[in-house]
Amino acid sequence: MSALETTLRYFKAASKVMDLGDRIERFLTQPRREISVEVSVELDDGRLETFVGHRVQHNSARGPMKGGIRYHHLVDLDEVRSLASLMTWKTSVVDLPFGGAKGGVACRPETLSERELERVTRKFVDGIHDVIGPNKDIPAPDMNTNAQTMAWIMDQYSKYHGFSPAVVTGKPVDLHGSLGREAATGRGVVIAAEEVLRAHGGGKGVQDRTFAVQGFGNVGSWTSRLLHEKGGRVVAVTDVRGGTRNPKGIDVGDLLAFAKRTGSVDGYPEGDPCTNDELLETKCDVLVPAALDGVVHKGNAKDIRAKFIVEGANGPVTWEADEVLRKKGVVVVPDIYANAGGVTVSYFEWVQNLQVDTWSEEVVNRRLHERMTRAFAKIQSVASARKVPLRTAAFVVAIGRVAAAASRLGIS
Ligand code: NAD
Repeated sequence: MSALETTLRYFKAASKVMDLGDRIERFLTQPRREISVEVSVELDDGRLETFVGHRVQHNSARGPMKGGIRYHHLVDLDEVRSLASLMTWKTSVVDLPFGGAKGGVACRPETLSERELERVTRKFVDGIHDVIGPNKDIPAPDMNTNAQTMAWIMDQYSKYHGFSPAVVTGKPVDLHGSLGREAATGRGVVIAAEEVLRAHGGGKGVQDRTFAVQGFGNVGSWTSRLLHEKGGRVVAVTDVRGGTRNPKGIDVGDLLAFAKRTGSVDGYPEGDPCTNDELLETKCDVLVPAALDGVVHKGNAKDIRAKFIVEGANGPVTWEADEVLRKKGVVVVPDIYANAGGVTVSYFEWVQNLQVDTWSEEVVNRRLHERMTRAFAKIQSVASARKVPLRTAAFVVAIGRVAAAASRLGIS
């Protein structure tokens, strides 16, 4: 099942509970605009190469649209559509005044030099600058794009429209970025874990609980680090090469230093080797998949031994696996809420840019905590009232807000 079909299934499960009706359902599933542009650039050796870039703007009923731009050879319209709609639900579930969008360029960034990536980025902005903007659609980093990419986007867009730092978020901190943005998604995952453990795990938070974390990039490494700081016991960590497991708990600071030195958590000497399959089946309180989509599927869902899954990655649990986990009693905290910390601090960055202001890291973290805990309380109250899983409840909250805004605007 494609990512788009999975998102649609989750949407339908919620819309059935809400009794939305066909007309509004069609409006909420149909993207507002999709554009594909040719991105032709000169490579360093003088050859001309052409890529295709997409931007899908899913829904703007609640405000300007928001979503990342990824560079990957498998980027296609279907994937971008699915991710754009997820952004509509993600911004809504944490109650940000944004809609959802997503974009990407189908290219192999690992084969491109820094100068070539800059040309690809600037050319892509040439193709889409008319449809993005601080009050229209605000891109952000995603797979294989980073703060530097955002700086190029800001600069290229500003050449057409005048100085506009608020056109993108996830910028470098020394170029109108926000303090706290780098850690924000991991910080949000930890807040989500804390909330679900308190609500469904006997009132106690992350302290002394055990965690297995897949992925040690931005989301996985910050999640592990912050869990460790809060007294959680991280017992297994993997990345693309492999990983390490230690039931007594891993010293995450030491692991970070090791991964920095070697480029991977694989081979860490203070634990046993651990494959990605073994990590997913590790006995622990909470599994945090924070790398890829579709890693918990119908083939391995029955072998999951965690009591909770907090989705750090987008779409790590397939639709079929979700059903198996529910029957097993595993509580899944859905991606649209669990990894919304990043877009929340992106929103804070946008606000700071528009106000020409800078917030301290402490203010950013406090406001992130307030938003994430408020959102969990809302999702939990819907889940309890309607007797539905947290994922369906999160979609009910998100869809309800977008539908309400749309009907106030008179577009349904
Ligand atoms: P990243 O590129 O920084 O890190 C990805 C990690 O996954 C790396 O440790 C890599 O080694 C590992 N990995 C890659 N292939 C793997 C494989 N086959 N098996 C196991 N591990 C593998 O990416 P990130 O920013 O941490 O994003 C991770 C996930 O979180 C993605 O699904 C992304 O869409 C989602 N997400 C990220 C953010 C953010 O702010 N960075 C926000 C929301 C959601």
